[in-house]
Amino acid sequence: MKKGCPFGSHRVIEPKGLLPQAANKIDNSIEIYSNEILIDVLTLNIDSASFTQIKESCGNDVDKIKNHILEIVEERGKLQNPVTGSGGMLIGRVEKIGSEFPDKNLKIKDKIATLVSLSATPLKIDKIKKINLENDQVDIEGKAILFESSIYSLLPADIPERLALAVLDVAGAPAQVSKLVKKGDIVCIIGGGGKSGILCTYQAMKNIKKDGKVIVVEYSKENVQRLKDMKLADEIIIADATKPLEVYKKVLEKTEGKFCDVTINNVNVPNTEMSSILITKDGGTVYFFSMATSFTKAALGAEGVGKDITMIIGNGYTKGHAELTLQIVKESKIIRETFEKLYL
Ligand code: NAP
Repeated sequence: MKKGCPFGSHRVIEPKGLLPQAANKIDNSIEIYSNEILIDVLTLNIDSASFTQIKESCGNDVDKIKNHILEIVEERGKLQNPVTGSGGMLIGRVEKIGSEFPDKNLKIKDKIATLVSLSATPLKIDKIKKINLENDQVDIEGKAILFESSIYSLLPADIPERLALAVLDVAGAPAQVSKLVKKGDIVCIIGGGGKSGILCTYQAMKNIKKDGKVIVVEYSKENVQRLKDMKLADEIIIADATKPLEVYKKVLEKTEGKFCDVTINNVNVPNTEMSSILITKDGGTVYFFSMATSFTKAALGAEGVGKDITMIIGNGYTKGHAELTLQIVKESKIIRETFEKLYL
């Protein structure tokens, strides 16, 4: 058995020299290299920005969505939405382990969730069994490959696997909030009524202690009501994050002109960069977790309004992110109940 590159470059078909995430096409053949594992896939969790775009372009028609997903994987060897560039993650059972794969505790038949994006994961789909339009999850028959450097987590015994799959998809967000938000901060979570938004709101409330404030900006009536019922945030603003001045005025009012120390962007639609930038005070930080974020719009937009702020690209990984996120689900009864309704 040959040994592959730890980062998966041996599977890149074109353009040569790139790593799998940036490549247009990767090799998804299921014979493993000695430092890879093969996974028998059960369910995919498609990234929200990607699934929203796919649903819109297919007019919410399940058969069209199915064909579109199959076409993408056939063409690219991975499930990377060509428009958003993003992927998602998966759960499955370990089927084969190469002799030089570093984790010697991993066993055949272990159930794992991959924590590396589907946009960088060789994937073969034999059959799509079910598409759930409500929660971005797609049950399939198929195989996936992980490289030596790919991260994954064993599925916990005390959380249902679909729920674990859903929250692990966005595990980077609350874990980054835990690093960024300090006692007494004013924090705004844009798109705080969605999956990652709820987890971030919970973590932000925990970090500010009693002195700060957590404000959520959310658009749809249902999500606003859900958040109100959950009693997670100090303030909820109903506004469209694609309308920066509307958001700016409302945050100005709620913060009595102080604006935010930290802004977390968790939306799943484009054109929300300027709302995040305008409501963040000079010297503050914006964490763009949204996959619909444009680097150009953020960088030039901040410059255009003279904002001296730190803007962080939403790295989906930070050490301990899976543990922190699963812990939130164990700790917060209301989040667990809400997510169980959505994902089980
Ligand atoms: P989600 O559950 O769909 O949440 C998105 C939220 O944004 C929803 O509550 C949505 O409301 C709200 N929203 C949409 N348009 C809005 C607008 N114009 N104004 C205000 N709020 C609006 O998505 P998620 O799974 O938490 O993912 C959030 C984002 O993170 C997505 O962009 C996803 O692609 C990205 N992501 C990033 C990483 C990473 O590694 N950086 C990993 C995973 C996911 P409605 O539901 O009412 O539309």
